[in-house]
Amino acid sequence: MKIYLASGNQHKLVELRTALEQANLSCSVHSANEIGGMPEVDETGATFEANALLKAEALRDQGPPDAFYLADDSGIEIDHLDGRPGVRSARYAGEDCDDEANNDKVLREMAEAPDEDRGCRFRCALSLVGEGLEESFSGACEGTLLHQRRGIGGFGYDPLFQPDESPRTFAEISAEEKAEISHRARALALLMDFLRAKLG
Ligand code: IMP
Repeated sequence: MKIYLASGNQHKLVELRTALEQANLSCSVHSANEIGGMPEVDETGATFEANALLKAEALRDQGPPDAFYLADDSGIEIDHLDGRPGVRSARYAGEDCDDEANNDKVLREMAEAPDEDRGCRFRCALSLVGEGLEESFSGACEGTLLHQRRGIGGFGYDPLFQPDESPRTFAEISAEEKAEISHRARALALLMDFLRAKLG
C-alpha cells in the first residue's frame, strides 16, 4: 500500500511519517512533493473531518489512482468562545497571520473569562482516501486556556494550552510527552489500528 501525505506542514509530515514507519506496516509513505506538491485547498468545511477529506481528495486528483492519500486537519476549540477558533485556527487573526497574532487574538477575547470558564480542546481529524476507501479518525485532547503564554517549544497555540494530563503547557513538555497525549497522537492511534487490521 502506497500512502501519500497530503500536507505541506513539516511538523505534521515528520510526525505522521515516523509513526507510520515505526509501526512496521507493509506500506510505503510518500510526500506530496513526489506528485507535484500539495495543491492549494480552500478549507471551506464546517468540521475538521470535512477539511481533512477536502485535502486528501485534492491530492488524490493529481496522484496515481491505485494509491492512498492521508490528510489531517486540526485546531483548538474554546468553550467560552462558542468553539472558536475551531476550523479557523490557522487563520484566526487574518489570512496571512502568524501564531503570535492568533495567540494575541485569543488572549484578548479570553481576557475576561474566569478560571472556571477556560475549558478548551485540541481536535484532529485524519482522513484516508483511495480506491473504495474513505475513512476518518478523530482525536481530542482536553485542557485549559491560560491567561498568558508559558513555554517556548511547539507551535501554534501550544504556549496557551495546558492539557488535563499535565501541569505544564504543550510548549513546555517534550515532543515525546506530547506524542503520548495529543489530539493528533490519538487520531493516529486509531488510524494505526485500522491499518494493522487492513494490512496485517
Ligand atoms: P491545519 O494545518 O489547517 O490543520 O491548521 C491547524 C492549526 O491549528 C495550526 O496552525 C495551529 O494554529 C492549530 N493547531 C493544531 N494542532 C496544534 C498543536 O498541536 N499545537 C498548537 N496548535 C495547533
